[in-house]
Amino acid sequence: MALLTKSKYLAGLQCPKYLWVQFHDKDRIPEPDAMAQHLFREGDKVGEMAKKLYPEGINISFDSFVENINQSKELLKEGKPLFEPGFIHNQCFSRGDILVPVEDEWDIIEVKSSTRVKDVNVHDVSFQKYVYEGAGLKIRNCYLLHMDTTYTRQGELDIEKLFKLENITERVEKFSEGLEGRIEFMMDIINSPTDPRKDIGAHCKSPYQCPITQCWDHLQENHVFKLYRGGVRSLNLYESGVHLIKDIPDSFELTGKQDVQRECGKTGKEFVSKEKLKPFLDGLNYPLYYLDFETFNTAIPMFDGLIPHQQVPFQYSLHVVKEEGSTPEHHEFLYKGSSDPRREFLDSLKGAVGSSGDIIVYSASFEKGILSKIGKYFGEEKWADSVNARMVDLLIPFRNFHYYNPAQQGSASIKKVLPALVGKDYFGLGIQGGAEANTEFTRVTYLNGENKEKVYSDLLKYCELDTLGMVWIVDKLKEKVE
Ligand code: SF4
Repeated sequence: MALLTKSKYLAGLQCPKYLWVQFHDKDRIPEPDAMAQHLFREGDKVGEMAKKLYPEGINISFDSFVENINQSKELLKEGKPLFEPGFIHNQCFSRGDILVPVEDEWDIIEVKSSTRVKDVNVHDVSFQKYVYEGAGLKIRNCYLLHMDTTYTRQGELDIEKLFKLENITERVEKFSEGLEGRIEFMMDIINSPTDPRKDIGAHCKSPYQCPITQCWDHLQENHVFKLYRGGVRSLNLYESGVHLIKDIPDSFELTGKQDVQRECGKTGKEFVSKEKLKPFLDGLNYPLYYLDFETFNTAIPMFDGLIPHQQVPFQYSLHVVKEEGSTPEHHEFLYKGSSDPRREFLDSLKGAVGSSGDIIVYSASFEKGILSKIGKYFGEEKWADSVNARMVDLLIPFRNFHYYNPAQQGSASIKKVLPALVGKDYFGLGIQGGAEANTEFTRVTYLNGENKEKVYSDLLKYCELDTLGMVWIVDKLKEKVE
């Protein structure tokens, strides 16, 4: 008998085809990547922490559906909070986080590591309520227990303050309208031998990025969903049969940036706005410090002065170009201890960035935010402000489409710009992105330490390429405007 669980119900809300694949073609679903696994781990830690708010609570194990359901039913009689109880109703199975008894009724508490209530969370709880009530429980209120970003850790964790409990009962009532019809529809999908043939669209990325990449295989590079901030416009074009940016009619209204994409799509050539790039490049003040940070974050703050999910810097790479044409000097820092990296990171950076010359970063708001926070925490605000004031954002010429190459496919990310403009890429590196740097550093530093030296070496190579890549990008832009 096929069971509709709450995760499958949420998948079905996003896309019927995604739901169908989960029952009939599971091989199309890739294994969770490093980032997804990190998020699962964070979710588990938060779930365990939340249980401490209910010291009387009883854990219900999950060895099988039947055992979980029987145990949950039995333990209802105890009149104590239940952790992860499972109930079944009309082929729907729901195992929520916490059920709290209130006289002869129950409150549903759904725990999330996020910092606010999202629609998908309300749908999740609506499904739980439907199943629990169908199984005979009286539900009084529904709550979402999520991280409270007004909490800053000082000393021991204050679990009461770490979480925020939001009453979502009214929203759950609203989201429950039509729920039975939706379940019926999903059951038909599950029981159908054929794929429901849902086409791609905005739903593929919302509320989560769907992992079924094959649905996009029929589109060639630079399809209309690669239009910069395309949104509804991309969808309308796709639905009207225009699949590629180069095929968008001249009469179709686009934004200025999208228009650059259309032109480049048609000609297959790059776009260079010399008049916009030249002032940017001429305005750079030597020595140039090309700087990049790597950070990690955890839902539960690990150290004093952190709020939930706050980014903690653990590594930087810095290439210094003293004067036009000189060979870049490389400096780097990677925390190799097992505690709080921030003080060592700050001290090392202070000795490396000098006191004059522009500091070139890619997406400055990130680095500025990190420096402001650790500067404030360690009483180095003045220094952090002075460093932030020297920052120049290399993202700007690309985000403003002052340079665009069709190989960027609508993205201004350095991961797309570097290969498109310079011809170098991250291929072959052990670590290929910030999210992977975050998860691998966290794993070897605070979890199991497996392959630590290899991960350190991979981290250093990855971060070095980010800053050397920026040196190459600036050099290349200079060539383009000359
Ligand atoms: S990629 Fe899009 S269309 Fe395909 S299954 Fe996922 S959500 Fe549905």
